[in-house]
Amino acid sequence: MLRCRPHLTEAEIAATLGLSRVPPGPRPAGPPTPSARSPAPVPSAVSLSRRRIPGRTASVSRRRPRAHRIREPGGTPRSGTDRPVAAGVRGTAGAESAEKGFRAPLSGLRPARLGGMSNLDRAPLPSVCGGRGFVVAEPVRELLSPRHVRLGESTEVRRLLPNLGRRMIGAWAFVDHYGPDDIADQPGMQVPPHPHIGLQTVSWLHEGEVLHRDSTGSQQTIGPRELGLMTSGRAISHSEESPRPHARFLHGAQLWVALPDAHRNTDPRFEYHPELPTVTAPGLTATVILGSLDGSVSPGTTYTPIVGADLALRRGADVRLPLEPDFEYGVLAMSGEVHVDGVPVLPGSMLYLGCGRSELPLRAESDAGFMLLGGEPFAEELIMWWNFVARSQEEIVQAREDWAQGARFGEVKGYDGTPLPAPALPEAPLRPRGRVR
Ligand code: MN
Repeated sequence: MLRCRPHLTEAEIAATLGLSRVPPGPRPAGPPTPSARSPAPVPSAVSLSRRRIPGRTASVSRRRPRAHRIREPGGTPRSGTDRPVAAGVRGTAGAESAEKGFRAPLSGLRPARLGGMSNLDRAPLPSVCGGRGFVVAEPVRELLSPRHVRLGESTEVRRLLPNLGRRMIGAWAFVDHYGPDDIADQPGMQVPPHPHIGLQTVSWLHEGEVLHRDSTGSQQTIGPRELGLMTSGRAISHSEESPRPHARFLHGAQLWVALPDAHRNTDPRFEYHPELPTVTAPGLTATVILGSLDGSVSPGTTYTPIVGADLALRRGADVRLPLEPDFEYGVLAMSGEVHVDGVPVLPGSMLYLGCGRSELPLRAESDAGFMLLGGEPFAEELIMWWNFVARSQEEIVQAREDWAQGARFGEVKGYDGTPLPAPALPEAPLRPRGRVR
């Protein structure tokens, strides 16, 4: 069977990062596989209607313009680069093989002291992401099992990205799903101040709330289905905690969006958008978190053609969601049982869908909550380590050093505790995550 491109070789990674320890080796040969399969267009089973948030203009073309418009609050949109989907990447087998890798779904509610809104891993592995080598240019159904990551003493999150053989979906570079956790008698989320570069963070809750503070002076409590969007740009630091008192249950996702090279040194900024546009169909409510879906556009600032949407599907609903054929997509299941293009996706799992789709069949066996993540394949290669998204090992070493010295990342005021120390850098040359989970 065809598989998507395996991990980069050590030599390729070394070449990417400019390391000298590993001599460059031959690049993998082989002719590109054309994107042969293309699904026949099927008329939508339902017609979607849009509800706009007050004050937004109404006429939005259903088709995304070819040149991405960078949306910044209060500013004039600027044209960005337009990256067509790369041809010549390999597809994968269908859902059958992917399902073999499926692991147990959520084990149910449990008490937790949660630190899920950041990469708190004390020995984080670096990961090389981006580039078109990982993109699947045709529709696939590739079920991604979560990597269970322990944060602190009693908390476990399910990491979906980066994953085995799948590091990004569009510019989405990091996805953790956590909860629902019963934190009634617990402190809940407690993430001390820590730094970020080169990314945006998206806080997305289904239950509970998170108090965000950052070095730009922002202080904001974020509730369920409200967008907390932090753009790190060149440098930011922030803390996240469960407010006191707080709701009994905490359930959400922590996501990162990689910034493209042209904008990754922009000014740090935090945005709070409690009102987001929705797209509805019988049994479906889709909230547009970031980017656009079926012509409805999130007010959140974006730097690449992207979409993030929260989908709530009633039991028995059967709909087809319109997609952009030149985006790649994935679905993160959070609750209930949804069948995505015929594949059951249980909470805590993600189904990667590849590119080349104009719509997506969705059917709910029970009331289901899930997220659609997509975007134009991210062409630039990245290296991620701890809370940094960079282009070279030197940048990461510098960012770590700046944080350790108390420089560059500002100060988070009001957090009751000490900042998070940076973990030690790995001694081995930076390399992508191995095949063993
Ligand atoms: Mn963070």
